[in-house]
Amino acid sequence: MGSLGGSSRTNGQQPQTGINNATTADVIVVGAGPVGLILALKLGIQGISTIVIEKHAGILRAPRAIAYMPVVNKQLKAMGMLEPLAKRSYQSRFGPSWRPVQGEAYVECHPKEKVEQLLKAGVKLPPPPPEDESCLYMIGQDDFSDLILEQIQQRCPEHVSVRFQRPCIGINNVPGGVEVMTTDKVPGIHQYNDIVLTAKYVVGCDGAQSAVRQYACIPFEGFTWTNFRFTAADVEYDFQKEKNYFPGGNFIVDPNDWALIARTGPETVFRVCYGEKPDLPDDEASMLERSKQRIPAFLSPTNKDYKLRRLKPYWAQQRCAQTFQKGRILLIGDAAHPEDIISRALESRRKAWLEVANPTSTANYLRLCSTDKDISATRTEFFRKMNTDPAFALGAMAEQYKLLPDTFEG
Ligand SMILES: Cc1cc2nc3c(=O)[nH]c(=O)nc-3n(C[C@H](O)[C@H](O)[C@H](O)COP(=O)(O)OP(=O)(O)OC[C@H]3O[C@@H](n4cnc5c(N)ncnc54)[C@H](O)[C@@H]3O)c2cc1C
Repeated sequence: MGSLGGSSRTNGQQPQTGINNATTADVIVVGAGPVGLILALKLGIQGISTIVIEKHAGILRAPRAIAYMPVVNKQLKAMGMLEPLAKRSYQSRFGPSWRPVQGEAYVECHPKEKVEQLLKAGVKLPPPPPEDESCLYMIGQDDFSDLILEQIQQRCPEHVSVRFQRPCIGINNVPGGVEVMTTDKVPGIHQYNDIVLTAKYVVGCDGAQSAVRQYACIPFEGFTWTNFRFTAADVEYDFQKEKNYFPGGNFIVDPNDWALIARTGPETVFRVCYGEKPDLPDDEASMLERSKQRIPAFLSPTNKDYKLRRLKPYWAQQRCAQTFQKGRILLIGDAAHPEDIISRALESRRKAWLEVANPTSTANYLRLCSTDKDISATRTEFFRKMNTDPAFALGAMAEQYKLLPDTFEG
């Protein structure tokens, strides 16, 4: 195993010409994670000059996202991203499954089977989306970010400059635009310059600890789960072959060993994401030691041979910024449109999180590990309906695929 995760690989710096030398652009994007890069690509394709500043030396390599809900496939296709993504990823057509740690699954959802059952029963369904838009693309978010960066470099290098080791250290709303301060300071070297960039808009795509959100004085509302932490471990082990698991998502239901197990891409490397007590030490040595007990519990009793690639602990939080926009400072969105459209689109994304993502993730967490009598009864009923009522099962899966109502990509 390389490191616990969270390290970065230095990406090739672009030559310092044109946009790469500029201190002003239409849009400054803060953060070269998947969201910042996809936004920069989208802006660049439309000829909108964009500077991306990223505080690390390269794309972050922590074990994080591995699957992207089909709701985004149509947009990725419109950007010409689906074909290159298909070549680098694993495509799953299975739905979710719920299982005990060992033994028969409680629920295994095959969307195609459910559709056939409904059609047989004479239920009228809308025409299915094209094959390439309906599957789950599975690829680690660091590899996905590499792919987006390559697309930027190939398709719009004259409009987009991605600058690593350039943290955002200040923001100022000024008439008609924004100022964003960065610095070329690197650890161990005392000589440095602070650099002020200007743009019409700045978009904070700098993650959960967003500096942009903090500089704009936008509170992060909600709460952090303090009764558990979870650990994301990537392991070389073929759960499909050894345990007949689905590639896309296996929710392990257990008060202690609750987990999510899913494939991370074309290689047979699986993500084992398991819950831990919050007061356990999270230094590298302790994490590794505990993983030697925890990971084998999920493997087949007849084959415990696995290799750990990377591992990282996380706190879960149910938080959302109070607003996604303050003047020309945005926390997400396609910044090239007039302000009223931007406000509506940002508000629809906030609503989607509050009304769909937030309650769905909380319900699923409780379904995995709660020993509460009422929640256990709800879980049993949920599994019963998933197995016996195809319309309910499709509806539950569609929750994750809901399209945003007020979006300018649609
Ligand atoms: C274990 C785990 C599994 C997950 N699985 C999934 C999944 O399967 N599917 C899914 O859709 N989501 C998943 N997620 C959530 C997903 O990882 C996040 O939604 C995603 O990373 C958000 O991308 P982002 O680009 O907004 O932010 P990030 O990926 O956090 O990127 C932010 C970037 O901003 C940079 N940055 C931070 N501060 C500054 C600054 N001051 N100046 C400049 N740059 C800065 C950071 O270095 C980083 O590169 C998972 C998360 C975890 C932890």
